[in-house]
Amino acid sequence: MITFDLDDTLWDNRPTILKAEIDTRKWIEDKVGEVQWGDFNDFLSLREELIKEDASIEWDISKLRKEIFRKKISHITPSNLRDEIVDEAFNIFINKRHEIELFDGVEEALDSLSKKYVLGILTNGNADVYKFKIGKYFKFAISSLEARDSKPNRAHFDKAIEFVDDISFDQILHIGDHQINDILGAYNLGIDTLWFNNNNEKWSQDFPKPDEFKSWDVLPKIIENKYE
Ligand SMILES: [Mg+2]
Repeated sequence: MITFDLDDTLWDNRPTILKAEIDTRKWIEDKVGEVQWGDFNDFLSLREELIKEDASIEWDISKLRKEIFRKKISHITPSNLRDEIVDEAFNIFINKRHEIELFDGVEEALDSLSKKYVLGILTNGNADVYKFKIGKYFKFAISSLEARDSKPNRAHFDKAIEFVDDISFDQILHIGDHQINDILGAYNLGIDTLWFNNNNEKWSQDFPKPDEFKSWDVLPKIIENKYE
């Protein structure tokens, strides 16, 4: 079985999220006037505050986003109007969040690998792989919402082995871009890993660097050489 991370592994997530964020904020401001969005530190402290009120916000990032919108437009009354704006804003955001461009070679690699392996998705994000054409290659997709936790914790990996009979962690390869969330999380469980490193990042963990690759075009060959 091979499991994949989504964001920054199958596509470059930054331009997508930035555009989704900017466009959604603009839509909200067109509705309610200027909003003080704050900087990243404001976001972090607001997030902490919200988690204190509702612990599920730690792993339900869609709820987190909605609650942040709700706080930011708390001056809008009545509250049912505010709720309507929040729901509509979130719909706009989540649609734009799926406007992604796959890295070159992703589709071909998945097509070829799916003929020999069970493929699955383990993501901390809220993109739904089944909204894309490539969804057909995956037997399952587990987000933080389903896992009720985030990588590098083990919940995603524990759920993954429920999808296949008689499989153990040492029969899994996990592929992702994040040194901690993907590689350390899997490594801790004895899951083999491949590191997608298309930005020539330096390895900065205190355990051995796994094999890495920077182009999806070569992925099926790497896996073939390593395992077949
Ligand atoms: Mg990632």
